[in-house]
Amino acid sequence: MNRPRPSNCWSVAWLPAVFVASVACGQESQSDSKYAVHDMTRPQPPVVDPGNPSTQPHAGTAPSDAVVLFDGRDLSQWRTEGGDAGWKVVDGVIETVPHRGDLISRQSFGDCQLHVEWMVPKGLRPKHPAGANSGVYLMQQYEIQVLRREDKPTYTDGMAGAIYGQHPPLVAADLPKGEWNTYDILFTAPRFNDDGSVKTPAYCTVIFNGVVVQNHAEIRGRTAVGDPPTYEKHPERMPISIQDHGDAIRFRNIWVRPLGE
Ligand code: MG
Repeated sequence: MNRPRPSNCWSVAWLPAVFVASVACGQESQSDSKYAVHDMTRPQPPVVDPGNPSTQPHAGTAPSDAVVLFDGRDLSQWRTEGGDAGWKVVDGVIETVPHRGDLISRQSFGDCQLHVEWMVPKGLRPKHPAGANSGVYLMQQYEIQVLRREDKPTYTDGMAGAIYGQHPPLVAADLPKGEWNTYDILFTAPRFNDDGSVKTPAYCTVIFNGVVVQNHAEIRGRTAVGDPPTYEKHPERMPISIQDHGDAIRFRNIWVRPLGE
């Protein structure tokens, strides 16, 4: 599978601290017209306190019609490229085992609603200074970035809630280390013509800790480090995957509801 590999995600120099205070209109920041991939001059989005999402109804157990991919028990719904899931479950929570490869769902999905909760443990020293990194991939192609930012900002299309390398989050709504974050993702898969050309692109809405950070954003192709996105025809349904970026990030309560089937 022609998947993105994030080996040099953080090779870009830091954005000067002055930009931290230079917030931009979120909708404008989602425009694709004037910024290059990983453009360090793109203003940081506003920071929003999401309140207390652990008490919000989207956290916790799955709806009755959901395909439950992880409910605290085991990794039977997952594998890695090497075979069995090489990650571990500790106290009902998935813990990334770095360098074992991405976690890949055994089932495949197209249009869907996806719920994932993630947390960066307190005291975790990230592999890269920008912050502990993972990612939720739709169809093993399209990454919603998982990142707990450190003190200095990184490029905005690599922040948590970004469609990696394409759309920064409308606002920064991530919670501190040690607290659980939630992603609720509405995904429309791309459609392809018989000749491999794009019939309709993928679209994605992301609600991050109860806050909309992507609003029916058009995905412009496979997400990748540094490269302009392009589409390559793929099956109508493909697995969901969670990125191993070398940091021991934790996950829980993962479920998906296929849509339009
Ligand atoms: Mg990532």
